Amino acid sequence: ALTAGIVGLPNVGKSTLFNAITQAGVEAANYPFATIDPNVGVVEVPDTRLNKLTELVKPKKTVPTAFEFTDIAGIVKGASKGEGLGNQFLSHIRQVDAICQVVRCFEDENITHVSGKVDPIDDIEVINLELILADLETVEKRFTRVQKLAKQKDKDSLQEFEVLSKIKDALESDKPARAVEFNEEQEKIVKGLHLLTSKPMLYVANVSEDEIADPDSNENVLKVKEYAAAENAEVIVVCAKIEEEISELEPDEKEEFLEDLGITESGLDKLIKASYNLLGLATYFTAGEQEVRAWTFRQGIKAPQAAGIIHTDFERGFIRAETVSYDDLLEAGSMAAARDKGKVRLEGKEYIVQDGDVIHFRFNV
Ligand code: GDP
Repeated sequence: ALTAGIVGLPNVGKSTLFNAITQAGVEAANYPFATIDPNVGVVEVPDTRLNKLTELVKPKKTVPTAFEFTDIAGIVKGASKGEGLGNQFLSHIRQVDAICQVVRCFEDENITHVSGKVDPIDDIEVINLELILADLETVEKRFTRVQKLAKQKDKDSLQEFEVLSKIKDALESDKPARAVEFNEEQEKIVKGLHLLTSKPMLYVANVSEDEIADPDSNENVLKVKEYAAAENAEVIVVCAKIEEEISELEPDEKEEFLEDLGITESGLDKLIKASYNLLGLATYFTAGEQEVRAWTFRQGIKAPQAAGIIHTDFERGFIRAETVSYDDLLEAGSMAAARDKGKVRLEGKEYIVQDGDVIHFRFNV
């Protein structure tokens, strides 16, 4: 499964947020394959469509889809030079698919800040610079070798050399690799480099309890938003401490609590959705009398692969996918009505699954 890593300087609220994630965690019975790695927290992906489908189909059981966060502790200034848990930290980041960077925006004189004052942009730049330096090392190592081969007119090396040069230029001017534009072929080369700054990133602005209803009253949040906008990144505002409290509540208590706080959705729920989107993930549904269930897929995959997410037999014996979009199904009011209206399509092997599709797979065993 794809996972998003929680990253940030010490004392910004990472553990508090990660605690909220593990406490909110999924019901293990529904996800027997969920990892038991203590650094991984598995949460349900909030999706109101699943609730509506449940009302419509009235199944015995409803199962949301899940998403994994990985807690990555230990970045400090100089990590790329091996400071702190430097190398270990970087190798952990290498294994995640997206980065959620927690930034301290709350003031609290009792909680020390590593650099002595709360300055979110400074903090972001410390971390981003460490990632850039680590990538620069990776790129430079290859650069000299590939340059030699490129001089001998080796075609693949010429191409890689072009890619490496572009990335090197970006990194040397303090820009991440993801800011560079590549064509499809170059994109493949970039993937093979496993760079840290190629990974999609979002910022998590951690504010104090009394700012959560109106986060823009916090100047630090505005600064983070401005910084993020310049690199087309998203900012999710949370109060990690409150998220920790929310994660202990039952669903109906949670709603009431949020209302009291003056918000409609918890920061954690927003973060889950944003991370999911950041990774190019989407959801299709299966809706039977036994079970209504949400499934995660990578946008762009075809019907047989989507079937394989449920079971490899479904992919191997794939015949077709009876598909209705969530909107059409809801408008029709029932599967039978949707069928009568001609809204249920019989899709074949080449069908590209869409977010919100409600699918019944037909397959040979
Ligand atoms: P980490 O080092 O980034 O994992 O940070 P922690 O999660 O351990 O948090 C450091 C300290 O900040 C702890 O004492 C937390 O209780 C406190 N803290 C974390 N989030 C918040 C918050 O939203 N508001 C306030 N006031 N304190 C927080």
